[in-house]
Amino acid sequence: MIIGLSEALSYGERHGIAIAAVNTPFFEALTATIAAAERIGVPVILQHAQVHEQVVSIEDIGAAMVALASRSECPFVIHVDHGEDIDYIARGFEAGFNSAMFDGSRLPFEENVARTREVVELAAGRGFGVEGELGVMLGNENGDPDQGIADEALYTDPEQAREFVARTGVGALAASFGTVHGMYHREPHLSYPLITELVDAAGVPLVMHGGSGLSDEEYRRCIEHGVRKINYYTYGAKVAMDAAREVTADPDVLLFPSVAVAATRAVEAEVSSFIRTLADSGK
Ligand SMILES: [Zn+2]
Repeated sequence: MIIGLSEALSYGERHGIAIAAVNTPFFEALTATIAAAERIGVPVILQHAQVHEQVVSIEDIGAAMVALASRSECPFVIHVDHGEDIDYIARGFEAGFNSAMFDGSRLPFEENVARTREVVELAAGRGFGVEGELGVMLGNENGDPDQGIADEALYTDPEQAREFVARTGVGALAASFGTVHGMYHREPHLSYPLITELVDAAGVPLVMHGGSGLSDEEYRRCIEHGVRKINYYTYGAKVAMDAAREVTADPDVLLFPSVAVAATRAVEAEVSSFIRTLADSGK
C-alpha cells in the first residue's frame, strides 16, 4: 500500500526508529527492496533521484514503483529524491509519486527558502509531504569520487534550520551533520550533539543523506539522537555490481537474466540488513 511521508515519519517517531529511504533506479533494486521491506514488516520509502534520469526516466521506473508498492501489504512512500527544479517534481507527482525532496542546498539561503516554499505549495494542494535541504552535503548519488569529506564549516546551523522550516513549511529536513554522499574514503565526522540541536530547532523529522556505509553503531546513535529518515543507495548498487561480475566471470553463463537474478539476490540481502539495522534501533 502507499502511505504519506508524514505517516511514515510518525511511525518512525512512535517506534524510535529511522525509516529506510532506498533509491531504486533499476528494476532489480526495486523488487529486492520491496521484498526486503515485506520480510521485515516496516514502512519503507522508495525513491528516485533526478540525477538518475540518465539511468531510467521517472515515468518508467515510477510506473513500476507505484504498481508494485500498491499491491504490497507493506506500506511504502513513493518519493522524488533530490528534485532540482519544480517541473521535475511536478512530473513525479503526475507519475504517481506522493512525496518529494527539493534540493536547494547549493542556492543562497533566500532563494532556497523561496523555491522550497513553491514546492511545498504545489505538494500541499495534493496532500503530499516535502523534504527540504539546508547545508551542503558533498558528493552525489552517482558515486562522485570527488566527494571530499564533510567540513564542519558546511554543517547546518540550527538557528537557520529553525527559520528555514518556519518559512518553507517543509515536513522533513535534510541537514548536514557529518555525512557525505557516495562511498566513504575516510572516516565520517558525525556530530551527534548537532543532530539533537537540529531536531530541537527544526521541530520536524531530520533526514540523513550519505547514510550508506556507516557502521551499525553509527546508525544506532544517529537514530537515538533523532534522525528519522536515512537515505540509501550506493552500497546496494555496489553489491549488485559485485554479483554481476561474479556471474559474468563464468563462461558457461550465456544469458543476461542470470545477472539480473544474482543482482536482485545481492541487493535484497544488503537492503534487508540495512532496514533491519534501522528497525532494530528502536527503544
Ligand atoms: Zn542525498
